[in-house]
Amino acid sequence: MSKRYQNHIDGKWVDAVSGETFENRNPANWEELIGTFPSSGKEDVETAIKAASEAFDAWRLTPAPERGDILRKVGDIMTARKEEIARNMTREMGKVLDETRGDVQEGIDTAYYAGTEGRRLFGHTVPSELHNKFNMSIRRPIGVAGVITPWNFPMAIPTWKIFPALVCGNTVVFKPASDTPLTATVFVEILLEAGVPAKVINLVHGSGSKVGTPLVNHPDVGVISFTGSTPVGKGISKSASDTLKRVSLELGGKNAQIVMEDADLELALDGVLWGAFGTTGQRCTATSRLILQEKVYDKFMDMLIARAKDLKLGDGLQPGNEIGPMINAGQIQEVQKYVDIGRKEGAKLLLGGAQYKEGDCANGWFYAPTIFVDVTPEMRIAKEEIFGPVLSVLRIGSFEEAVRVLNNTKYGLSSSIYTNDVNRAFQAIRDIDAGITYINGPTIGAEAHMPFGGVKETGNGHREGGWEVYEFYTETKSVFVDYSGQLQRAQIDNY
Ligand code: NAD
Repeated sequence: MSKRYQNHIDGKWVDAVSGETFENRNPANWEELIGTFPSSGKEDVETAIKAASEAFDAWRLTPAPERGDILRKVGDIMTARKEEIARNMTREMGKVLDETRGDVQEGIDTAYYAGTEGRRLFGHTVPSELHNKFNMSIRRPIGVAGVITPWNFPMAIPTWKIFPALVCGNTVVFKPASDTPLTATVFVEILLEAGVPAKVINLVHGSGSKVGTPLVNHPDVGVISFTGSTPVGKGISKSASDTLKRVSLELGGKNAQIVMEDADLELALDGVLWGAFGTTGQRCTATSRLILQEKVYDKFMDMLIARAKDLKLGDGLQPGNEIGPMINAGQIQEVQKYVDIGRKEGAKLLLGGAQYKEGDCANGWFYAPTIFVDVTPEMRIAKEEIFGPVLSVLRIGSFEEAVRVLNNTKYGLSSSIYTNDVNRAFQAIRDIDAGITYINGPTIGAEAHMPFGGVKETGNGHREGGWEVYEFYTETKSVFVDYSGQLQRAQIDNY
């Protein structure tokens, strides 16, 4: 049964001013309409920013531990509703139920972690260089935070951004991806139920150009946190520089798994299957390249093809299905474009390479798991993000060559090496250019209390998760208290 959903602006559930809406459909069965959502515009965004600005003063003066307590309650409600949220997430974006449960759990973990940060938010106290003087630094919130998120982790990614923003005392205008508006709506309902004041959290549905752009450009928004594609991220960075606002960008990836000759091959096989084809390859951390040592090349490829060809595609709500659909028709075309490029470049297609329409998959956006071999480091399928179930396999000789090939891309998000040689493991940790390196684990996966993000064109140096994101959402103030009763001139009177 489909429903008409609304924005949450200025403390009320409302339609877009224009009255226009867009549809949200199940990518595993496009005949199923999940709901309609407001197709908002600049006016809606401006009202939301005004409300968030008005709410800022009271929220920043609420003690941080009290703000944290609200987030613990958010975690409790999310825990109670985990199964329902996961099922609806599978319906709106396709990944299998185990994965959507994991997505919600990541939000729950982030809530409880954020709750505790409300009792820390450390500054520093340090000795002064002068007599009878006290020095400390404290953290202050920035103001209104604009949060723009993608569809592939519809709960986890918004929580990574919105929880720390709130704990630090900022108010929020949230623009979720238009492919996953339902999860975003339920998330905001939960924040309100837990006690986040109504004007502190504003939700504006709609497109990147009509909602995202005015949010980024507005002078009253002090900070933007964006996760999405690298081209859009670069545009946001340029626009935001006009108002000198702080911007966090978490962008694309071209992640690789190295398998050396001394690796546990069964373990490495589980890793690459999960890394390359989990979430139908639509993860920023997906394993898009396998860098395989020549001595184990033939054996490992036989093992890989045998398992990959039997992966079961279908509706993520049906038990036994391992791979759900792609998000939409556009993403199918994008993957097909890269498969055609790979063929033209001279890579050999060993598996897949086409949309999958068998049986129950006939009415959904399914794509067959795809594997290319004879891929060389300069091919586009070895360097560019594909964001689908496509694995490019590169053959290497030495460990040094493996690291060189892995680093040969403009991205630097996640990376992995399977080896039982402890020296190589530590060299890899040192030499791989990426924000994340796994030893004997796949490229995908994150934990709420560990920093998450990448180098090079994967981002602009900020991190989500862990304590580092609390620095992003605060301004530091240095405080000097001189209790000497006289004028003390630093660097003059003491030297
Ligand atoms: P996208 O860049 O198309 O969209 C992301 C969000 O930005 C959406 O909400 C979209 O509506 C909005 N948007 C689009 N144009 C905009 C504009 N001009 N101004 C403001 N907002 C705009 O990305 P997507 O297709 O939703 O997600 C896939 C991409 O996200 C991939 O590149 C993937 O690697 C990346 N991603 C990165 C991470 C990470 O943490 N590094 C995590 C998940 C996804």
